[in-house]
Amino acid sequence: MLNIKTSFLSVSIYVLFATASVFASESTVRIVTSFTILEDLVRQLGGDNVEVVNLVSRDSDAHVYSPRPSDSIAIVNADLVISNGLGFEGWIDRLLEDAGKREKHLVASDGVQILSNKDEIDPHAWQSFLNIKIYVRNISGELIKLLPQQKQDLIFRRDKYLELIFGIEQHFEERIARTPVSERIVVTSHDAFGYLGREFDIQFLAPLGLSLDEEASAEDLASLVNQIKEKQVTALFVENITNPRLLEVIAAETGVGIGGSLYSDALSEVDGPAATYVDMMRHNLESIIDGFN
Ligand SMILES: [Zn+2]
Repeated sequence: MLNIKTSFLSVSIYVLFATASVFASESTVRIVTSFTILEDLVRQLGGDNVEVVNLVSRDSDAHVYSPRPSDSIAIVNADLVISNGLGFEGWIDRLLEDAGKREKHLVASDGVQILSNKDEIDPHAWQSFLNIKIYVRNISGELIKLLPQQKQDLIFRRDKYLELIFGIEQHFEERIARTPVSERIVVTSHDAFGYLGREFDIQFLAPLGLSLDEEASAEDLASLVNQIKEKQVTALFVENITNPRLLEVIAAETGVGIGGSLYSDALSEVDGPAATYVDMMRHNLESIIDGFN
């Protein structure tokens, strides 16, 4: 009699756990994102339906990241891994391979109009409203596949977010149009703003290339200083992920002031000026326009 009771109890407990796990898997999915901009997009688009683990943290540089053992565990447990692609996260392929997650991987930039710089693909495609709408559609499409029962909610979130992006894009197009194209020149630390430049007809100059794993030569620096003087550049910007020293040297050489920080490859801390993608784009464009005036 006692035995029957015990086994009935354990069956009940088993059923309880099984039911709970079915509910959990139907309403939420586990997503791993490679860096903060994707983390924010997934949270905006997935709301309460996503649990996000992000790898490269705020104010950090994904170009030269060294994965931690906890990253591998997060990837093993993920329903989907999302990276930028275009060579930005050179370290992620190995992690996906080791975790057997090649099939559960979304390259968020899939389908964007790629820019190249000196024969190298420019990975910073998120720095463009045109492109981010493609990222949004790619991510949202995968979330809908994983959460078909939440489809209506996910579509509503996607469309609301796209509307927000469209509004900001229009606002800054109008504002930037007040500065003649020939005067739209900005100096930053590394070549992270090519896509923004293409979209708003802004020329970005930088002592460092597309990545941050190389140093600027004395020759490159001298030529940049000359260009800044010739083109009468009015503002230099440091970046949140780079050491400001190089830009301080250029400021001293040219007599042009530093106009603040731009956020290129990572969001700021939550209480900073670029806590979300939308805040980052607003902050960067506001700072650049202020620098022109
Ligand atoms: Zn970069």
